[in-house]
Amino acid sequence: MIRIAIDGPGGAGKSSVARALALELGILYMDTGALYRNIGLYMLDNGINPKDKEAVTEALSGISLELKFENGRQIILLNGENRGDDIRTPAASMAASDVSAIPSVREFLLEIQRSTAKKNSVIMDGRDIGTVILPDAEIKIFLTASAEARARRRFEELAAKGISTTYETVYSEMVERDKNDSTRDIAPCVKAEDAILVDNSELSAEQTTKKIRDIVKKYQKKHTTTYMKLYKPLAPFFRFVMRLRPHNVENVKREGGLIICSNHISALDVLSIAATSPRQLTFIAKKELFSIPVLSSIIKMLGAVKIDRGGNDVGAIRTSVSAVQSGKAVAIFPQGHRYPGVKPETTPIKNGAAMMVYHAKCDVLPVYIQTKKARFMPFRKIDVIYGKPIPYESFGFTSGGRQEYERVGKMIFDAITELSDTSSLPDYVERENKR
Ligand code: C5P
Repeated sequence: MIRIAIDGPGGAGKSSVARALALELGILYMDTGALYRNIGLYMLDNGINPKDKEAVTEALSGISLELKFENGRQIILLNGENRGDDIRTPAASMAASDVSAIPSVREFLLEIQRSTAKKNSVIMDGRDIGTVILPDAEIKIFLTASAEARARRRFEELAAKGISTTYETVYSEMVERDKNDSTRDIAPCVKAEDAILVDNSELSAEQTTKKIRDIVKKYQKKHTTTYMKLYKPLAPFFRFVMRLRPHNVENVKREGGLIICSNHISALDVLSIAATSPRQLTFIAKKELFSIPVLSSIIKMLGAVKIDRGGNDVGAIRTSVSAVQSGKAVAIFPQGHRYPGVKPETTPIKNGAAMMVYHAKCDVLPVYIQTKKARFMPFRKIDVIYGKPIPYESFGFTSGGRQEYERVGKMIFDAITELSDTSSLPDYVERENKR
């Protein structure tokens, strides 16, 4: 997970940079100003003075704001309605600035902003992201430029949208908003101590994006996990040696907590998934593996979670659940044991997988591993078929418990075995395994 905070005054170009980088990195872009703008607009619509603290606070109870992301695009529904560019008019800008100085408004918007960043990697732009909303963001940028440069850009932006105004008006409104935003008592627009200052008065939009992209790249290089460092050279090697053929890899969402459940044929199933999945996996490994020299260091380095197969290992389940809740993908085998050469639909299912899903409240990704030979040998040909994620809600959990775990365990396993029907894979070719 990576959270990038871009703060700075209006017109500095935060949203263009943030949008471009979010697209490149495949993560969400959240424009927090749009939330304040919707509140400002609501006040104007209802004849409430956006500066009137009491009236605005009272009016908040009539507002429901829903934040959604569709194909990476942020959509805000103000009492069920997407107000589009209505929030971009100079009047709405001023109203946004006014309401944003009211503590109850900031409090009202706090959770909606934080909860998105809890579950997803995100680039957020605003005024107080690095100081208040995400004080522990991995990267903080304070993007600014001279008032003249910012007013010119904003003027051109408005003109392009067909909103008629003059440069002078935009400039004076900008100076007024700057003053409002940076001198207010609560969450003023100031650079966080640990933010990197970027002044782009003399830079084009592309140059600004490049500068910030370089900062992100530098961070990523420094923080690439050992897992991903090994993944780059080793995954293609294993795909080749094991003749791994992945199908529907696009079903693996790159971000957010996930439980990957697969049938279990051989000890190498872990490798089959790891070498075909595009994201880092956390595995649950039996406790005996942790006492084998060398191997134990490798699996620890790869972030494996220890489990005692004998009983209900509450500690391991709890560790896995918190890994999922912190946005990791945990891979587990609901069968609990390897069943080489046995039709998976005829094997018993353990409750661990369903129990984890219940506690982690996350989606499940079913995976079917298909191979004719159970024992390892090079070039043994393995198909790894990724199914569509099953949303948590569709399991219909009520209160957990054994009966529910058994029911959900079966649901998950049915989804896995359904993937053995390769007729849904247009590019699937039956392979003979002669050895
Ligand atoms: O970024 P944008 O110009 O859309 O923001 C509109 C107004 O919302 C700003 O002038 C600022 O007063 C307020 N705002 C804020 N905190 C944020 C984002 C925006 O106070 N995180």
